[in-house]
Amino acid sequence: MIVIVRENVAPEGLDELCGYLRSQDVEPHVIVGQKQTVVGLIGDTTSIDIHHLESMGQVASVRRVSEPFKKANRQFHPDDTVVEAGGVEFGGGSFGVMAGPCSVESEEQCMIVAEAVKQAGATVFRGGAFKPRTSPYAFQGMGEEGLAILSKVKREFGMPVVSEIMDARDLPLFDDVDILQVGARNMQNFSLLKELGKTDKPILLKRGLAATIEELLMAAEYIMAGGNGRVMLCERGIRSYDTRTRNVFDVSAIPVLRGLTHLPIIADPSHATGRTRLVAPVAYAAVAAGADGLEVEVHHDPAHAASDGAQALLPGQFDEMMRRVSMVRSAVTEPLAVL
Ligand code: PEP
Ligand code: MN
Repeated sequence: MIVIVRENVAPEGLDELCGYLRSQDVEPHVIVGQKQTVVGLIGDTTSIDIHHLESMGQVASVRRVSEPFKKANRQFHPDDTVVEAGGVEFGGGSFGVMAGPCSVESEEQCMIVAEAVKQAGATVFRGGAFKPRTSPYAFQGMGEEGLAILSKVKREFGMPVVSEIMDARDLPLFDDVDILQVGARNMQNFSLLKELGKTDKPILLKRGLAATIEELLMAAEYIMAGGNGRVMLCERGIRSYDTRTRNVFDVSAIPVLRGLTHLPIIADPSHATGRTRLVAPVAYAAVAAGADGLEVEVHHDPAHAASDGAQALLPGQFDEMMRRVSMVRSAVTEPLAVL
C-alpha cells in the first residue's frame, strides 16, 4: 500500500502519520520527491482501514499495490484448488454439474428429477429446502423435511447433494448435505460466512445481486479466514436495468476470477437468465469462458413448480444441454494444433 502525502504537510504532520501507521503494525517508508512525498507501507496491510487513512488531513490518496484478499488470492497459491464433495471434484481440470429443482417439493418430484439428471451426466443433485423468497407469503421451502428427502435421493442415486443454508443455526440439520450453498442474498451475511468458516464442508458461494468481483472474493475470504478453504465461487448474474432477462450474466467474471483466484468457478445460467430458453446458450458461454462447473435448475413439470418454473429445464432439455456442454468443453480444452 502506498500513501500519497498532500503538498505542504509539515514534518510534524508527517511524523504523526507515520506514528499512526506504526500503530497499525506496518513500517512506513517515507520517500521525499521533488514535488511529492509518498509513504510506502511494509508489512501486512490487510487490517488497515483505507477509508480512515484517506480521511486523514495529511493524506492526498491511498493506493493498494496488492489485493485485500490473501487466502483466495492466486498470487499466494498459484495452483488451482480442487474442491472434493462426496466423491465429486470441481476445479483443476475437473468439471462437475449440479442439477435439480429450485425447491424440494416432494419425494416423488426429487426422485423423478434426480434419475433424469443423473442419467444425463449431472454429478451433484441440487434442491432448495430453505428458500430465500422475495415475498414472505411465497413458498418458503419444506425445511427439515426437504433435507430428509435430499438424504433419500443421495442414498438412492449415490449422488452428493447441494442445498442452500440461510441461517447458521440450521447447521446441525445440514450434516448429510455435501455442499452448503450460500445464496446471492446472503453473500455478505458475514456472521453466516464466519460460522461456515468453522466447518469443513464445501461451500458454494453465490455472487450477490449487486456485488463486485472483489466483494465476492472478500466474502470467500471470510470463510477461508475461519479455516475452511473448500470454497467454490458461483457467477449467477447481477442486477441491471434490462427486464428481458432476470439478471445479467457476467461471463467476463469467469476469466477475471480465474486470474485472481485459485478457487473453482461455477456458473449458474438459470438464475442468471430466468428464462428456460436462455439457460443452455448461457451455459455454453460459461463453459467456453472456462467455468469449472455448472448449477442448473431442472424440473419434470415446470408449470407446477413451487418456485422458478420459468427458468427450469425439462429433463430432455437438460440432456441435450449436457451433450452440447461436453462438445464445448472439448473444443476449448483440446490443445491447439501446432501449425
Ligand atoms: C437458488 O439457487 O435457488 C437461488 C435462490 O439462487 P440465488 O441465491 O443465486 O438467487
Ligand atoms: Mn431458484
